[in-house]
Parts: sequence; C-alpha cells; structure tokens
Amino acid sequence: MAIRTITEYPAEVLAKMGQPVTEFDQELADLCADMFETMYDAEGVGLAAPQIGLNLRLFVMDCEGVKLIAANPEVIHTEGDQTGSEGCLSVGKVPAVLTRPEKATIRAQNEKGEWFERDATGYAARAFLHETDHCNGKLFVDHLPKLRRDMVLKRFKKEKNWK
Ligand SMILES: [Zn+2]
Repeated sequence: MAIRTITEYPAEVLAKMGQPVTEFDQELADLCADMFETMYDAEGVGLAAPQIGLNLRLFVMDCEGVKLIAANPEVIHTEGDQTGSEGCLSVGKVPAVLTRPEKATIRAQNEKGEWFERDATGYAARAFLHETDHCNGKLFVDHLPKLRRDMVLKRFKKEKNWK
C-alpha cells in the first residue's frame, strides 16, 4: 500500500468525464487500498480516482459508518435537501456552504464487479454526491454561484502560496 499524491485544482483530470472501470482484478483492489490510505492520511471522508490523477469512474469513502468502494457510480435517487459546509481535498479543504439533497441512493460496482445499491442521508449522502461528481469531472465549487466559487478558489490559491 502507498499514499498517493493528491491532485489539486486546476488539474485537467479533475474536469474530465471519467472512463468506466472495466477490470475488476488485483490491480483494482490494490488501487482501492492505496486510495483508502491516501484518504485517511489526508483526513478526508471520500476520495475519487481523478484526485490521484487517474481518469477513472471510481471512488472510496468512509463517512458516518458508510464505508465502501464504488466503481462506475450513478446517483439513482435523491430526496429533500440539506444545507451545510463542504470541502474537497483537491481544493485544500477550503469550505463553502452548499445545498445538496438530504438523501441519496447510488448504484455502483464493488471491487469484484458486483453491482449494489446503497442509501445514505446527511453527510454521507453529501459524500455520495460529491464523489460521484468527481467521477463526472465536476467539483463542488461548480455548484456555487460564480462569486462564491471565485472566493473559494482565491482562498485556496492563497493558502497554497503560504505553504
Ligand atoms: Zn472532492
């Protein structure tokens, strides 16, 4: 297992539609193990393959008791809404308030290629939506009005320069 380097905004791979996962082999299992390790090391609750520079529809998460690997994820149902703070490891965890559905159901494949459906509410539902967005080349800031989006990105760039 190894900790991978986290890809940050404005890397091109973060804005690309991911390629489907087609091989469910040991290499994929090893990749997922690396993704979990990288996520825990960065103290995140979710990590998608584009965030380590791979153009793949794949994410891992461990958020409020929902721990899973999701290959080729799709959000198949959402309900209600919640307004809360959200951040992204690829944007230096700079937070922004964002309204998302309160409940979400995803359909995805596990590391063996078996399809499953899973429901989540609250913060875990937010993670489903955030990580599935990554697989579709979308960042959480893309949901914000332009002014607020620019503010988050400006703060991120500033914080990077301080390091
Ligand atoms: Zn993210």
